Amino acid sequence: MVTILRAMRRTWWCACGRPVPWAWDIWTSHASQHLIDPYFFSHVLHGLIFFAALNLLTKVPTHVKWILATVIEAGWEILENSPIIINRYREGTISLDYFGDSIANSIFDVIACLLGYAFASRVRPLTAIAFFLVVELVLLVTIRDCLTLNVIMLVSPVEAIKEWQSAGVS
Ligand SMILES: [Zn+2]
Repeated sequence: MVTILRAMRRTWWCACGRPVPWAWDIWTSHASQHLIDPYFFSHVLHGLIFFAALNLLTKVPTHVKWILATVIEAGWEILENSPIIINRYREGTISLDYFGDSIANSIFDVIACLLGYAFASRVRPLTAIAFFLVVELVLLVTIRDCLTLNVIMLVSPVEAIKEWQSAGVS
């Protein structure tokens, strides 16, 4: 994934160069450029979804499912940083300053997904579902964005949602 992202001219780190591991304000150019930001948690939720989906493949050994989850998430990071998706985010969503993730951020997004996967594999389904809803709610309240909205805005942007999200820029 790193090799491909690098070949796609993705940068290693935020242009600001500051060695700060996190960037909490999504309405700045630092978002998705440092290691951890609010979207880290939506990638944790990817892991929960992957676990639920891969759980349906009863005949596939556990270690293969881990590999599948990793490969799918790494593939998503590459897709997410391709011009098609980046332009779509910029056109239809609040991500006006979004020019793709830094490679460091993409690596941590994959780690986030695997953390979510590990969590889902260790708790009861109801706990995982409750955790999913809490994370979505907290993200919705704090950054006016979440995985569900992200998917909606990527697939079929809704103007009213975009306006509401834009109103959050302080
Ligand atoms: Zn920065």
